[in-house]
Amino acid sequence: MQVMNSNHPDWLTSFMKCHGITLWGVADLRGIIIPSADKKSSFDYAISWAFPMNPEIMKSIQTGPNRNYADEYARANASINGLANALVAKIKNRGCNALMLPASVRTDNENIKGDFPHKTAATRAGVGWIGKHCQLITRKYGPWVRLGTVFTDMKLPCGSPLEKEFCGRCTTCIDACPAGALTGKAWEPGIQREEILDVFACDRWKKEHYMHFHKGHNCGICSSVCPYGLKI
Ligand code: SF4
Ligand code: SF4
Repeated sequence: MQVMNSNHPDWLTSFMKCHGITLWGVADLRGIIIPSADKKSSFDYAISWAFPMNPEIMKSIQTGPNRNYADEYARANASINGLANALVAKIKNRGCNALMLPASVRTDNENIKGDFPHKTAATRAGVGWIGKHCQLITRKYGPWVRLGTVFTDMKLPCGSPLEKEFCGRCTTCIDACPAGALTGKAWEPGIQREEILDVFACDRWKKEHYMHFHKGHNCGICSSVCPYGLKI
């Protein structure tokens, strides 16, 4: 199991292990504004985990998504949300507050984003970094993961944030993107998403070509071609 800090309480380590999660950590989010259900709670920490996708399915979408990928995507989201709800309950049972960040929920349609980026929690927990395809890359699974996040006020040992990317001179995802949506700019902490990804071009392409998969939310080509995935 790859845990980004080994001093976690036993109950949390066991919980993650029981749910088959092998790559996770805790992010220190102090100083970062995060959503809260009642606007009174404050959540200084986030538990972040990577849910691995089926590598054979991920390899199969280099020219576009397919039914297997759409099903795998839905399965991953359901598992992440189930685990997140159970983790929130565990934390609350211990007298602390917690809030799950649902998988793949767009709450701002105008700007095409959710309440908070799972990727921010993941990089700050040390789970991975952001590649030129604007997705998280992990050492263990490459970018072939989906992410879960639970915010909490429970003080937990935090991982070391990843503040560097490792794409080097690779441009594979940029060349493969059919929408021309990737700028080629390398990630660094604090960079605006728009500097890496033209999210409107990406969204438009998906809606125009893959509407039959999750109403145009699926593509995955840039992830599928990434060498960090293909080498696992
Ligand atoms: S998801 Fe598809 S359209 Fe969007 S950036 Fe990746 S390859 Fe391009
Ligand atoms: S395909 Fe290459 S440039 Fe794109 S994210 Fe992966 S390593 Fe980085």
